[in-house]
Amino acid sequence: MKIVVLGAGESGVGAAILAKEKGFEVFVSDKSEIKDKYKKELDEHSIVWEEKQHTEEIILAADEIIKSPGIPEKAPIIKKLREKGTHIISEIEFAGRYSKSKMICITGSNGKTTTTMLIYHILQKAGLKVGLAGNVGFSLARQVAYEDIDYYVIELSSFQLDGMYDFKADVAILLNITPDHLDRYEYKFQNYIDSKFRIVQNMKKDDYFIYWNDDPVIQAEMAKRDIQATKCPFAIEKKEGLAAYVENELLKITAKNTTFDMELNKLSLKGQHNVYNSMAAGITSCVADINKSTIRESLSDFRGVEHRLESVAKVRNVLFINDSKATNVNSCWYALQCMKTPVVLILGGTDKGNDYSEIESLVKEKVRAIVCLGVDNAKIHAAFEGKVPAMADALSMKEAVEKSFAFAQKGDTVLLSPCCASFDLFQSYEDRGRQFKEQVKAL
Ligand code: ADP
Repeated sequence: MKIVVLGAGESGVGAAILAKEKGFEVFVSDKSEIKDKYKKELDEHSIVWEEKQHTEEIILAADEIIKSPGIPEKAPIIKKLREKGTHIISEIEFAGRYSKSKMICITGSNGKTTTTMLIYHILQKAGLKVGLAGNVGFSLARQVAYEDIDYYVIELSSFQLDGMYDFKADVAILLNITPDHLDRYEYKFQNYIDSKFRIVQNMKKDDYFIYWNDDPVIQAEMAKRDIQATKCPFAIEKKEGLAAYVENELLKITAKNTTFDMELNKLSLKGQHNVYNSMAAGITSCVADINKSTIRESLSDFRGVEHRLESVAKVRNVLFINDSKATNVNSCWYALQCMKTPVVLILGGTDKGNDYSEIESLVKEKVRAIVCLGVDNAKIHAAFEGKVPAMADALSMKEAVEKSFAFAQKGDTVLLSPCCASFDLFQSYEDRGRQFKEQVKAL
């Protein structure tokens, strides 16, 4: 059987290694340049590859295609494969065929990485053999190729879910659904919702589906769908049937015969969105039979993930927070919501069809000034001009940090939570966050 892997990033290379190990004839093709470390690895495994092109006669002759999540449906090679009826799957689908480990899968529009890392932290502390996969860490396929373990904690984007058919999660978490990536879904929100709900496909009664009960989009879907898995909804306010809620400043969990509670102020991650993430992780831990003291300790000593509401430094009593990963409006909403001081907000970048009205009332309530950090800031000016006391533009991180610091008064917070992708001025959100931290330290 011939397998072609399209895209030679971490997931593609991992898939190729696993496929080779399972005895398939493998060919890897990438339209861009392949990183040297991956070329070397492919060579070491005697896997044939090409870069900067797609040789159609080889690709169209494949029995099955493993496609990297970054390649859109509208790519000409994918269209041709679809016309031909070739089976196209994701790396996670492929790896799932060869693993007997328990799969804990996390999706949602926001909070995936934080929740994934938190669960990984808890299971590791509990002494389990656990792997981190999906959008974070090494690809699942690569790990399955080398050894199989107790648990994989897998962050799944909608793009990965799109290529999943027979894969089954043992625990599935759906944190929230707000419009994102619509350019990949024919601008139809329902297509994106359906993609997210693929996380529950094939699940049985003894599997667990953990989801945010107050999300209006999830609620509407739950009313339409017949989901076999045991349901573990969570919300802030106590209600019949919830697996987690808050009562008297205590986070309370009841799942799989376990009851667990913990003081909210002991959670290491701050902000309401992180209460949700902690609930999802806590329910998962109860379901995985982790002992309560380990859960409690892990939820209180988790150090957080870089670029997500990361405290950078206090400079002359102004706190700087790096939330560079807030690449959509909804995540900025949560960041603003948990700010307890006046805020100087750094916004801007590559717009993904943002509707800023979602944060307007929080901006009016908390924001002292907005610094627009982007090549084209017209939309942000149009949305907020006259609604905040001051606005300014910046074309570099140095300028943005200096202008923000000038606006800030003692006791304020300067928050980088840009609502936008970073590609106009930076290589990635990580690059943007790192530059922010460097400039703060240079003040
Ligand atoms: P993802 O991996 O889904 O992009 P991250 O954990 O990287 O999520 O967080 C991305 C952004 O979303 C951060 O700015 C963070 O503050 C915010 N965020 C985290 N959890 C949630 C949540 N449950 N709901 C809304 N926003 C969240």
